[in-house]
Amino acid sequence: MNRLTAQVKEKLSGLKLKAVLFDMDGVIFDSMPHHAVAWVKAFVDEGVDFNEYEAYKREGMTGFATIQEMFLAQKGREATKEECERIYATKCKYFEQEGPADVMAGIREVLEFVRDAGLQIFIVTGSGQHSLFEKLDSLFPGIFAPERMVTAYDVKKGKPDPEPYLMALKKGGFSADEAIVVENAPLGVTSAHAAKIFTVAVNTGILLPEDLLSKGADVLFDDMHEFRNALPEIINFGLKK
Ligand code: MG
Repeated sequence: MNRLTAQVKEKLSGLKLKAVLFDMDGVIFDSMPHHAVAWVKAFVDEGVDFNEYEAYKREGMTGFATIQEMFLAQKGREATKEECERIYATKCKYFEQEGPADVMAGIREVLEFVRDAGLQIFIVTGSGQHSLFEKLDSLFPGIFAPERMVTAYDVKKGKPDPEPYLMALKKGGFSADEAIVVENAPLGVTSAHAAKIFTVAVNTGILLPEDLLSKGADVLFDDMHEFRNALPEIINFGLKK
């Protein structure tokens, strides 16, 4: 299926592409299955119904916010601070048991194509791992740079607020029409759309297309291979003036 409809091409034609802003979890790393399994197990331990789809829909939400939502919905009350801390610690323990996440299938080819096209590559993530750049640089030598990353330490408000993507534009000295975003999660798409940046959603998990399109994704791909195949045309339309 060609996802680049006339409407999508028209939007791309309004861009002056200089950079591609990549989300990390579920885009660079196939980490969402691990998060989802860990959340389900942690909630089961507390007698809270939760499934992996619920976890995917909330990707990027803080752990405490996720716990509060489920307590309000199922127990009719807020979780106490102790409950939040206990459940989140349990979730983190189960997440670690899952081991390191794989690199997302097809992302290496996407990153190399974007680099070779002369566009700047940014990472925009809610993650706050201190060793993040070292990990990225060892897996993808020469692709990323610390000055082209926005992490939890750079922003006051995380996704779905537009601040993380606006911060990436600021760091790079770009306007919104000089970048596109690559996202996999509803809250991330909401953030990028609110920052008025053309947003490519890649449904790398178990969400329904509508979960991403309804948040403002400009185009949706089923996986990184499909996105990679469309990239020459996307960049061509985004550069051609
Ligand atoms: Mg993500």
